[in-house]
Amino acid sequence: MNESHKLTCLYGAITVDLTGEPAALANCHCQTCRDFYGTSMLSATAWPAASVVTNGALQTFQHPHKQMSRSFCPACGETLFGTNRLNMRVVPNSLLARAHGGTLPANRQPTMHLFYQQRVIDVSDALPKYLDGWDGPVYEEGA
Ligand SMILES: [Zn+2]
Ligand SMILES: [Zn+2]
Repeated sequence: MNESHKLTCLYGAITVDLTGEPAALANCHCQTCRDFYGTSMLSATAWPAASVVTNGALQTFQHPHKQMSRSFCPACGETLFGTNRLNMRVVPNSLLARAHGGTLPANRQPTMHLFYQQRVIDVSDALPKYLDGWDGPVYEEGA
């Protein structure tokens, strides 16, 4: 199914159309994401650049040291997506949920936790909790 999502910033000045399938659905606990997105855990989906079409004049903030940027609405300041070093578009789940009446669709739920050893909050769920990236070891309760 070729599902599409229409995201809208809080002010309504910017819309973003997402089509196709995300490449990853994750909660990232790494310090870089926490600092860059201003959150204790970045719950997001990552999309190929071609899947993301923006309507409106976004502004972009380039990270001073890392190969990543954040694209935000100049009117309300909300980040519509980030761009990571793989040129994927990272869309916060807050936006995706809002586009669906406040509920994240079942097929867009996070499937894992990344960089869990850098966490500032503990999470109790059944998802795999990778200590670093998804090619590495997972967190074991009590270990
Ligand atoms: Zn806005
Ligand atoms: Zn991260």
